[in-house]
Order: sequence, then structure tokens, then C-alpha cells
Amino acid sequence: MREIIEKLKLNKDVSDNELASLIDDNYDTELLFQAARSVREEIYGKKIYIRGLIEVSNYCKNDCFYCGIRKSNLTVNRFRLTKEEILSCCKTGYSLGFRTFVMQGGEDMHFTDDIICDILREVKSDYPDCAVTLSLGEKSYESYKAYFDAGADRYLLRHETANNSHYQKLHPSAMSLENRKECLYNLREIGYQVGSGFMVGSPYQTTENIIEDIRFLQDFNPHMVGIGPYMTHSQTPFANHPNGSVDKTLKLLAIIRLMFPKVLLPATTALGTALQEGREKGILAGANVIMPNLSPKDTRKLYEIYENKLYTGDEAAEALHNLKNSMKKIGYEIVVDRGDHNSKTPMK
Ligand code: SAH
Repeated sequence: MREIIEKLKLNKDVSDNELASLIDDNYDTELLFQAARSVREEIYGKKIYIRGLIEVSNYCKNDCFYCGIRKSNLTVNRFRLTKEEILSCCKTGYSLGFRTFVMQGGEDMHFTDDIICDILREVKSDYPDCAVTLSLGEKSYESYKAYFDAGADRYLLRHETANNSHYQKLHPSAMSLENRKECLYNLREIGYQVGSGFMVGSPYQTTENIIEDIRFLQDFNPHMVGIGPYMTHSQTPFANHPNGSVDKTLKLLAIIRLMFPKVLLPATTALGTALQEGREKGILAGANVIMPNLSPKDTRKLYEIYENKLYTGDEAAEALHNLKNSMKKIGYEIVVDRGDHNSKTPMK
């Protein structure tokens, strides 16, 4: 295993069989994590970038089988934030030291392009030194272009799975992997820093599927990769499927760091929810981004894409002080910085 890890570190690639061993075999994963940390530190040192996550709406026109806020879940108490509420989250976040705001939500038709652009222009004019990331799902090229022109810098859209038949098992027939991928290529062409990714242990996922996900990431080469364990929600068709493995998630964080040394890689809320000190362990496996929750306190629990999602304690943006301390304890430092991708391509 040591040889495979060395080879992955050196060549940023190994064979499918070797990847399968890294993902599935039992071995001393500390070797893998150590290699990932050394690569991460060459590029980003001990810095950790933070993003303030603002959950703008839990209305969604989609019906993804894994997601707690899917439209068929009639038990959800739906909310959407006003522009004023979003601006107030940014204000709080800015004073805490956040220089990236992530607006995430379901595909809420109330948020027309005009409304979204108006919010973007206001946030960017109030906070010109901040980056704004959107994560609002699949939109047309024209919509993505309008958001970009209104000031959006980055977009997160996980591909979810790069295998067609697996994609169909996770989504209703109205959705397609082809469209998801087209969205990603459009975002890149427009000039966004783009994030993709997938859930680890989603229902019916095989190791071959994960290898396809990795191969897709190599092909697409995103600036950011979001991966976290699949987490069950009882009000979905997947209520009986178990949570994804946290050990596998940590291995994959490390593998992705070794394959994409410069990538922005969050230790996700799902990992923090599934595992005690999950975020710390994610950082120690090669992650370099944390996204604390900056949403208004009363709506946080309503954005329940999976059950028991963390939204208090160190997950809360107001508790940044605690997060700083726990990162310091493991030798890392949260910085006040937009935390752009360290690429040679010119940045806006
Ligand atoms: N509507 C947006 C945001 C979706 S939520 C979009 O389509 O991109 C962000 C991510 O949460 C999803 O891409 C998915 O990978 C993840 N997610 C959804 N349900 C989940 C669950 N039950 N467990 C773990 N992650 C989940």
C-alpha cells in the first residue's frame, strides 16, 4: 500500500485497480493522510479557508430521492429568505471574518434571475472584497451568465455520480446526468470557479462508480470538490438505506488531495455530523476549507437535506472562535481571506 500511496503522490494518478485497493482495503490510513497533508501544505501551508453558508430557501421543484427537502416531502416547513435577511447574514459574517459567502438552496422558482441578480449586485457592492458562491442547482446558460455578470464568482454543483444508470437510481426520470454535466461545462466556460463532487455511500453506489467519479473529476478538473457521506432522511424513498462510511469519506478526501494538489476541498457538514470531530479529521486527511452555517438561526433547522444535520455548536458561524481553537489544536489556522483557487489562470 505504501508504494501505491507514493505513486499516487508522485504521478497524481494510479490504475483503477490500485484506486479500488486504496478505497476498499484495510490498511494504515495514516500513511495516506500523511501524504495528503504534505501535498496540501506545500500549496496552502497550514491555512484553512472558511466560507459562510447561507441557506436561502428550502423550496425545491426537484425530487431527488436522497434529499430531505425534495418536493414530495410534504412534512417540510418551507422557508425562503428575503434580500434583507441575506444581507444581514453577510453583515454578521463579514464582522466575524468571512470573506466568502455561499448562497445555497433548493431550486426555488420564486428566486427569478432578476431577484438573484439584484441580491448579488447588492452583496458585491456592500462587500467588494468578498467572493460570492452560488449553489442553486441546474439553470440555463443564460441564467448562469446573468448571475456571473451580476458578480457571482463561484458555483457549486455536485455531479452526484458520473455513472448514468446510478444517476437514474438517485433521481427522477426528469433529471439527467447529461444535463448536470452540461451545466458544469457551461459554468466553467462562463468563467466561474466551479465546484463539483458526490456523496460517499449513496444508495447503490459501487466502488466502480466512485472510480468513475474520480475519472470524471480528472476530466473536468474543478477548482473545488465537495464530498461528504450520504446521510439518511426518513421522509425520502431511501429512508431504509444506511449512512455512507466516514472512513471511506476520509480516504477519498486524501485521494482527491493527492490527485488534485491545488483543489479547494471542504471538510463538509455531513462529515461533521456523521463523525465526532469529523471536520478536524477531514482537515487532517487533506481538506482545506470549512463552511460554517451563517443562516438565520430560526431557519437553520429547516434546511434539513438529511436528518440531524449539525447547525449549532461549532457548526454555527457565531462559534467561529471555538472552531479557530479546535483547528489551532491540530496545528492549523483559520484565515481571513477569500481563499481563491491557487491557479495560474487570471482571477476576476
Ligand atoms: N439544489 C442545490 C443544492 C443541493 S444541497 C443543487 O442541486 O446543487 C447540496 C448537496 O447536498 C447536494 O449536491 C448533495 O450532494 C448533498 N445532499 C443532499 N442530500 C443529502 C443527503 N441525504 N446526505 C448527504 N448529502 C446530501
